[in-house]
Amino acid sequence: MITLKESSVINNINFLKKRLGKRVILSAVVKANAYGHGIEQMVPMLQRSGVNHFSVFSYCEALRVEASLMEPATIMIMGYIDPNEVVDAVERGFEFFVFNIVRLNAALDAALHLSKPARIHLEAETGMNRSGLDLEELKCAIETINGNADSFVVAGFCTHLAGAESVSNYLRIRKQMKKFNRYLTLLKESGIVPELRHVANSAASFVYPKTRLDLVRVGIMIYGFWSSTEVFIQYVGNRVNKRDPLKRILGWQSRVMSVKEIKTGEYVGYGISFFAQTEMRMALIPVGYSDGYNRSLSNKGRVLVRGHLCSVIGLVNMNMLMVDITEVPDAVPGDQVVIIGEQGEYEILVSAFSDISNKLNYEVLTQLNESIQRKIIT
Ligand SMILES: *Cc1c(COP(=O)(O)O)cnc(C)c1O
Repeated sequence: MITLKESSVINNINFLKKRLGKRVILSAVVKANAYGHGIEQMVPMLQRSGVNHFSVFSYCEALRVEASLMEPATIMIMGYIDPNEVVDAVERGFEFFVFNIVRLNAALDAALHLSKPARIHLEAETGMNRSGLDLEELKCAIETINGNADSFVVAGFCTHLAGAESVSNYLRIRKQMKKFNRYLTLLKESGIVPELRHVANSAASFVYPKTRLDLVRVGIMIYGFWSSTEVFIQYVGNRVNKRDPLKRILGWQSRVMSVKEIKTGEYVGYGISFFAQTEMRMALIPVGYSDGYNRSLSNKGRVLVRGHLCSVIGLVNMNMLMVDITEVPDAVPGDQVVIIGEQGEYEILVSAFSDISNKLNYEVLTQLNESIQRKIIT
């Protein structure tokens, strides 16, 4: 089971709002099932802590956010919408990025069909070379928008920065901001004044305060993680208090399913990946790679049982893994197992996973299977 601590959500949102200032809108990025935390759980918690703007990747995610709302909020789709779903997106009042002319025309068709303007965010290509309108496309978009004023509300003008979490990208990001501002001037000179300008993700909001503009799209920090160690160090660097102001929301627990004695000289699990050099006790845990416990943690990961750190032995299976509980002789089936979080004096961090498996926090979190039960705790 995954537990989600509401007090941590409140802590993180309060911290972010205080740091970002009153004039900046905080859009909570809840793509990829709210970074693995669960859209249906995170959206109401975020609303209770005062967030009313949500960013998602796709139309499907937007529907899930909409269904989880307790009160009206803005939902912004930054990425994919199936061409057949653009009409529904406009009808439901979802806002979405326009990053090419195909999407602009689809928005126009939908708006004309519904006699309802499409709320669009023009995304500029400023140097990331992923998605966005280049200068020619922007000019073309301006023409279409000005020729169909009733069909569009330009809710935003935006871009995405290519790696604000690392200082090595400083020059590239500065170039991106210059281009963004040039395009914004062009837009305004053509009579289009976007409601909001936005470029910053978590890292940019902190490393480059000038990029905050009207709205920031914050993902990873909402969940209590810094985008990179570099960003954290830069933040605490010139502060007296070096404590991390963010708190983790997510914990992952399971239970011992079965216990077994292993004789010296036996192999454990599939193949020959673990060999018992002495007599030992093993606990079987009903968590496997299908849940998001990566197979690269075979013979490497650790879990907590009765306050002891226990090593994963053998290969991580699809639905199960085995741990060494030789040092925990009183462990019995039904005992709580902590996969992520605290137990007794120890804590297993997501970063322990990501370091061992050579993955980003983002990856570890988003691989947590949606079917794992999620529960809000205070
Ligand atoms: C994912 C994403 C964000 C949020 O990034 P974090 O590093 O998690 O804050 C912001 N903007 C866009 C376009 C994104 O895709």
